[in-house]
Amino acid sequence: MTTSEWRAARNQQALARLTKALPQIFPAPVLNRALGRPFVPPMPRLAVDGYWRAHPLRADRLARALAARTGAPQGWTWRLGCERNDGLPTTFRVPPTPYREAAFARGPGWCCVCGQPAFRFGWHIDLWDGGPNRRATWHTACVTAWRLWNTPSDYTQLLKRLQQRRCAAGGGRLWKTAEVDHRVPLFRVWGEHRATSWPALLGFWGLPNLQVINKDVHAEKCAGEARSRARASTRSANKGGDALRQQRGRMPVA
Ligand SMILES: [Zn+2]
Repeated sequence: MTTSEWRAARNQQALARLTKALPQIFPAPVLNRALGRPFVPPMPRLAVDGYWRAHPLRADRLARALAARTGAPQGWTWRLGCERNDGLPTTFRVPPTPYREAAFARGPGWCCVCGQPAFRFGWHIDLWDGGPNRRATWHTACVTAWRLWNTPSDYTQLLKRLQQRRCAAGGGRLWKTAEVDHRVPLFRVWGEHRATSWPALLGFWGLPNLQVINKDVHAEKCAGEARSRARASTRSANKGGDALRQQRGRMPVA
């Protein structure tokens, strides 16, 4: 049996399984993509997964739009934690997501990224009128958005294409070694934009703040950022010293 014969036979079986499992209503773009794949996914759930994996920028936009519909829970602020079970991010590099925190989690049937209900196949609209899917705590789209936000370097090729292979900082041609960078670095997001409302904050992890730049330009940018961080910490240490001197000056001399 040749490879193409084997694939045709395999696809026939997969298509039979998919057709059997497919509900009457199913998102058309997902089905169209599934049927056009070299390997047809045998289950509707896999078709939905594959669709969002193939459209990470769409997933990023959708996840942020869904989160905007929910808004931040009352009393929530962006905080870092050190315990494992409170759901707080341990570093400012992880996007803040209130509904992943133990104190604000909405439970089964609700997406922990955007806080909106999740339906059949992790879809974000209830096309089936079945209500929230109690087995789901993520939208399939939000899973993909979460991957993009946390490991944008996995999407370098896609972002390069989007920039037509030009360096976003230097303007020259992007080399093979070009790297993904946050326009506003995440340490500055934490330091200067912490009070930004949620989910506008998520934009700092999404496409609006992502760019691909050449490695040398990136190294220069990072060195500049490190210099400004060092200056800022010297300034704050000096301020501390001044405060201490003032305080000492007010102290009565024995
Ligand atoms: Zn979601």
